[in-house]
Amino acid sequence: MKAKDILKTMKPYKPGKGIEEVKKEFGLERIVKLASNENPNGFSPKVKEELPKLISKLEIYPDGYAAAIRKRVSEFINVDEDQLIFGNGSDEVVQIICRTFLEPGSNTVMATPTFPQYRHNALIEGAEVREVPVVEGHHDLEEMLSQIDSQTRVLWICTPNNPTGVHINKETLQSLLERVPDHVLVVLDEAYYEYVEADDFFDSLSELDHYPNLMVLRTFSKAYGLAGLRIGYGVGNSQVIQLLEPAREPFNTSTVAQAAAILALDDQEFIENSLEENRKNKQSLMEFCEEQGLSYFDTQANFLLIHLPISGDEMFKHLISKGFIVRSGEALGIPNSIRLTIGKKEDMERIQEEMKQKLDSGVK
Ligand SMILES: *Cc1c(COP(=O)(O)O)cnc(C)c1O
Repeated sequence: MKAKDILKTMKPYKPGKGIEEVKKEFGLERIVKLASNENPNGFSPKVKEELPKLISKLEIYPDGYAAAIRKRVSEFINVDEDQLIFGNGSDEVVQIICRTFLEPGSNTVMATPTFPQYRHNALIEGAEVREVPVVEGHHDLEEMLSQIDSQTRVLWICTPNNPTGVHINKETLQSLLERVPDHVLVVLDEAYYEYVEADDFFDSLSELDHYPNLMVLRTFSKAYGLAGLRIGYGVGNSQVIQLLEPAREPFNTSTVAQAAAILALDDQEFIENSLEENRKNKQSLMEFCEEQGLSYFDTQANFLLIHLPISGDEMFKHLISKGFIVRSGEALGIPNSIRLTIGKKEDMERIQEEMKQKLDSGVK
């Protein structure tokens, strides 16, 4: 058997350690996972209440067109129905974009570190990946622009960026979009959109009419808390969506995910409460960092990238032995840091205590 050569150089995605795995390894009762930017409040109780009804027709294929959720999202974000494409998570929309636009001989431009799935899928399609290092956590947009040539098909922009949390302001993005050549699709990944508070955040959806080559990704996995059901979407001009549709699997989003997403969207009170709690707990965490003399990137998301005087792996090992799973910066490409999802108040207090103990006992 012969697989694509590029696959020999690639590894499967390695998720953070799972809860059950850590319980067993350290003999712990309770584990708090702050590694994947999930919503610590779970998801809308309306979804849970309705779930038994949602699973009644599992012998029937899902609606491949996702008509009901399509209608609901189009009303909610005020775009036409033919401007949407749904995916099995926005991960899958990334894959569909790569399948559609990338091939050997083409290239794609992105930041590093950023969300790893852009690179991963681009490589599988045989495209050249041009990665431009972030500067102080920010995309270096001027350098990214200068990497674009006639063979560039897709420019990936993650705002707020995962794993740094920083956003790109309106003016800067506008100026970028004015200068990106028409033959390049610009994908703005806004997975953390709901959490953004900055007044100068780019209003991407209202700019779709101005930029035919702009596309926006959103997801139900983060603030909406439905990571386990897998549903996200892309928004673009209908001509772009038409190009993507043939590369999408016919029944890619499940019946249950489609229905749950509608219920989740209808419960904006749950979102408001989640955002409020995130705001408060993030504030306390930043105050803790300041007290400890730890610097961090100015986040607009539900996580904080914290710089440490020790290695991220070392802090990770300490925290996991105490029942907290975080993401080590070494794994993310930012050594001597950890990325911490903002969790529940009591858990954040406990983890701050554990971090303090480690720092006080260390080389500081
Ligand atoms: C979590 C995340 C996604 C993937 O979300 P799914 O919809 O669960 O596939 C996409 N982009 C970024 C930047 C993320 O952090």
